Amino acid sequence: MSIYVRAFACPPKYYQGPGLFSRLGELTKDLGESAFVIISPSLANKQTPILHEIFASEGRNIKIEIFRGQTTRQECERLTKLSEGFDMVIGIGGGKVLDSAKYAGIYNNAKIIMVPTVVSTDAPTSALSATYTESGEHAGSIYYKRNPDVIIVDSDIIMNSPERYFVSGMGDALSTYFEAKAHVETCTKNRVGEGYKTSLAAMNLSELCFHTLMRCGKQALSDFRNGLCSEAVEDVIEANTLLSGIGCESAGCATAHSLNSGFSALWQCHKSTHGEIVAFSTLCELVIENYSREMIDNVFDFCMSVGLPITLAEIGVDKSDHTSLVKVAEKARTTKHIAAVPADTSVDNLITGILKADEIGEEKRKSLNPTKKAVGN
Ligand SMILES: [Zn+2]
Repeated sequence: MSIYVRAFACPPKYYQGPGLFSRLGELTKDLGESAFVIISPSLANKQTPILHEIFASEGRNIKIEIFRGQTTRQECERLTKLSEGFDMVIGIGGGKVLDSAKYAGIYNNAKIIMVPTVVSTDAPTSALSATYTESGEHAGSIYYKRNPDVIIVDSDIIMNSPERYFVSGMGDALSTYFEAKAHVETCTKNRVGEGYKTSLAAMNLSELCFHTLMRCGKQALSDFRNGLCSEAVEDVIEANTLLSGIGCESAGCATAHSLNSGFSALWQCHKSTHGEIVAFSTLCELVIENYSREMIDNVFDFCMSVGLPITLAEIGVDKSDHTSLVKVAEKARTTKHIAAVPADTSVDNLITGILKADEIGEEKRKSLNPTKKAVGN
C-alpha cells in the first residue's frame, strides 16, 4: 500500500562554502546552549582551541572528545554516555566520526551537526550509521528516523583533504542517478521511514547529481589539484554530499551498491575505497541494465577522466578468478538492494555483466595506450 504514497527526506539545513568552520557558533546558535563535539584525532590539536574560543565568546558550553578510530558499538555507546545532557552533538571528521556523532545525538535526543572534513560518502546527510567490529569488518547499519539537523561543509577544509577522497566521492555519487532510476522502474520502496515511492524531487536531484559530475567533474579535479576552490569544485562538493545523499535516501540503492557489497567482501578489494568500488560497480550496472552504448561510453570516459577504476584489475580483482566473481554475485544477491534491479539478477548474468564491463574498460585502456604492451616487452 505504502508504495503508492510518495515520501521525501532530507536534512533541514545545509551550508557549504569557504571559511564556514569559523562560523560554527553562529550557524548553530538556535540549536541550544551546550555542545558535545566528537572530533578526529588528526584535527584535535589545531581545532580544539578554535572551538573553545568560538563557544566561549558566545557564553555557551562545549566539551570536546577525541574519536577513538572505529565506529564500533562500544565506541558509540561510550560517546553516547559522555554526551548525555548536551543540547547538540557535533561531529567533525570523516564518515566514521560523523556516524558516531549521529548515534550519540539520536540516542540522547540532541540536535545533530555534521562538519565533514572529506566529501567521499553520503555520511554527512544520511539518517544511518555504519558500524564496524574492532578489526574493521562492516558490522551492519543502524537506520534512524531523522537526518542530521545541520550540515556545515567548509570548502577550505575539503580543499585540504586528500585528492583520493574527493575523487572517491564522485565515484559514490556516480551511482545515484542510475540507482534512483532502477527504483522508479521497479517500483521499489525508498529508504524514507518504512519505505515509500520515490518522489519527483528525489529523482530530479539524482539526475542533477549525475549531470553535475559529467559537466564539471574533470574541471573540479584539475582546480582541486591547483588549490583553486572554484565553482566547479563547489558544485562537485554539493553533488558528492547533498545531491548524492538525498538521492540515496529518498530514492535508494540498487545494482551498483549490491555489487559493491559483493566486491567489498573480497579481501582483494580492501585497498580500494567505497567510492572506487561503487564507480566500477556503476559501470557494471550500466551493462547489466542494457544502457545504450553512448551512455556506457560517456560514463566510462568520465571515470577515466577523473581517475576512477574502469577494470576489475584496478579494484584488485583478477578477471580469471571465477570463484571470487561467484562470491561477488552471490553476496550481491543477498542484499536488499537487489530487489530494485530492473534486470536478470542470476549469478550468471551478474558475472557476465561484470566481465563485459571489465572488457570494455580494458579496451578503453588499450585504445588510449596501444603501445603499452610493446614497451613492456
Ligand atoms: Zn555509497
